[in-house]
Parts: sequence; C-alpha cells; structure tokens
Amino acid sequence: MKTMKVSVVTPDGSVYESDVEMVIAKAQSGELGILPGHIAMVAPLQISAVRLKKGGKDEDLIAVSGGLLEVRPEQVTILAQAAELSTEIDIDRAIRAKERAEQRLHAQRQDEVDFRRAEMALQRAINRLSVTGRG
Ligand code: ATP
Repeated sequence: MKTMKVSVVTPDGSVYESDVEMVIAKAQSGELGILPGHIAMVAPLQISAVRLKKGGKDEDLIAVSGGLLEVRPEQVTILAQAAELSTEIDIDRAIRAKERAEQRLHAQRQDEVDFRRAEMALQRAINRLSVTGRG
C-alpha cells in the first residue's frame, strides 16, 4: 500500500508524525477519507477523532480540538489548538473537565459567552473520553 506523511502540530509542538495509508477526519462539512495522491485542499475540522490507518487493523487515534486539515498529495498536516494521541489522554482529567462543563451549563445564571465556552469544553472532554473508549 502507498503511504503519505502525516503531521499533527499544536502551539506546543509536534504531537504526531508518521507514514500512514489513510487518514479519516471529520471536517465541518462531513467525514473525509484521504488516501495518498489526494488533491490539495484545506478544511476546518470538528472537535473529533482523527483515525490514522497503518495497514490491517493497525491504526492510531488522535483527539483534536478542531483546527485545520491541510492535504497535499503526499503530506497531510493537521494544525490544532490541542491534540492528543488516545494513549496519552488523562482520563480522570477529561472526566473532571466534563463534570465542570456540565455544572456550568446547568447553572442558574449564565451569560452567552460562558455558555459557548462551556459547550466547547464539554465537547472536548467528551471527544477525549470517546477516543479512549470511555465515551
Ligand atoms: P482542562 O479543563 O482539563 O484543561 P481543556 O479542554 O480546557 O481541559 P485544552 O485547553 O483543550 O484543555 O488543552 C490544554 C492542554 O492540555 C493541551 O495541551 C491539551 O493537549 C492538554 N489536555 C487537555 N485535556 C487533556 C487530557 N484529558 N489528557 C491529556 N492532555 C490533555
């Protein structure tokens, strides 16, 4: 199988670098399956899992907090504010973040900015838990 280089980069540095056979990601417009040789494109991502297929059942799973997917025929780059490999996610931390966000969303008084921020934090926590299989 042909492969392409995939890099996942955050403001803290590179999170992932590997040669993979297929990238499956959730763009704002829907799910994308990218194989080597794909035409160049850029797409904003949802808070979601990115699957990196490495042959057979072997795959890496990364939780991304949105960001941008840039595709070139032999290179895929994901730029995200935060991204974690499934094996590096702190489950207790994600559970605490989820509970905090839920408490904020259910609080009696809240302004719109707080609501949106809590909603995004909730989505990030749910996504992290889902990527570890706890979602
Ligand atoms: P928290 O409230 O727990 O900080 P958050 O969603 O607000 O969660 P982010 O702002 O998305 O956190 O991320 C801040 C940094 O912490 C990033 O580098 C991110 O990769 C890392 N991070 C956040 N949650 C986890 C987690 N559960 N496991 C590992 N790393 C995490």
